[in-house]
Amino acid sequence: MTEFGGITLALSKGRIFEETLPLLAAAGIVPTEDPETSRKLILATNRPDVRLVIIRATDTPTYVQYGAADMGIAGKDVLIEHGGADLYQPLDLNIAKCRMCVAVPRGFDYEAAVRRGARIRVATKYIQTARDHFASKGMHVDLIKLYGSMELAPLVGLADAIVDLVSSGGTLRANGLVEVEDILAVSSRLIVNQASLKLKHDLLQPVIDAFAGAIKP
Ligand code: ADP
Ligand code: MG
Repeated sequence: MTEFGGITLALSKGRIFEETLPLLAAAGIVPTEDPETSRKLILATNRPDVRLVIIRATDTPTYVQYGAADMGIAGKDVLIEHGGADLYQPLDLNIAKCRMCVAVPRGFDYEAAVRRGARIRVATKYIQTARDHFASKGMHVDLIKLYGSMELAPLVGLADAIVDLVSSGGTLRANGLVEVEDILAVSSRLIVNQASLKLKHDLLQPVIDAFAGAIKP
C-alpha cells in the first residue's frame, strides 16, 4: 500500500461526482481532471494534499471503512446495504436525492396481493432494505438479487415487483411500471474513517466544516 499523507476522498462517477463539485469548491478543492473523460482512478486536485479516488458507488463505504480513503460520499441506499459499521457519518449532504420504492407492472394489483397475503417475488439490488420493508409489513416475499436494470425483471416474468430508486419516475413509466409504495427518502452522506478523523483531524475538519456550510436545503 502506498502512503499518502493527505486526504483521500472516495467518490463515484455520475451524479454524486457532479453534485459534489460545488461542495469541494467551497472547501477550496478543484479536481484537475474529469472522471467522465479520464481513465485514471486516482485524480489529483488543485491541492497537493487532496486526491480523489473514483470507484463504484457500492464500494465507497468499504474503501472508507478500511481507511483506503479517509472520506467518501455515499447514498443512504448504499450505506444501509453496507451496514455503516465503524463509519462516522457527520453530514447529510442533501445531494443525489431520490427515493426507494416498490414498483409493479401497471395492472398488477399490489394492494390485493398484500391483502391476500400472497407470496410475491421481488427483484432488487437492495436486499437488506427490501427485507426490512416487507418484514415490517408482515409480508412474505422471495427476494431475487440483481445488480442492475431492475425494471426489466417484471417485464420478463422474473419477478412480480421491484424495489428500486426513482427520482423523476421516467424509467418506470417507460417500462410500464408504477410506484405502489414509498420506502425511504435517499440522499448522499459524507462518511469518514474514524482513525483518519483522529490522526488527520487538522486536515479533515476544515473540509467537513466547509461541506457543512455549503449544503443546500
Ligand atoms: P450504479 O450505476 O453504480 O449502480 P448509480 O450511479 O445509479 O449507481 O447511483 C449511485 C448513487 O446515486 C446511488 O447509490 C443513489 O444514492 C444515487 N442515485 C441513484 N439513482 C438516483 C436517481 N435516479 N436520482 C438521484 N440519485 C440517485
Ligand atoms: Mg447507474
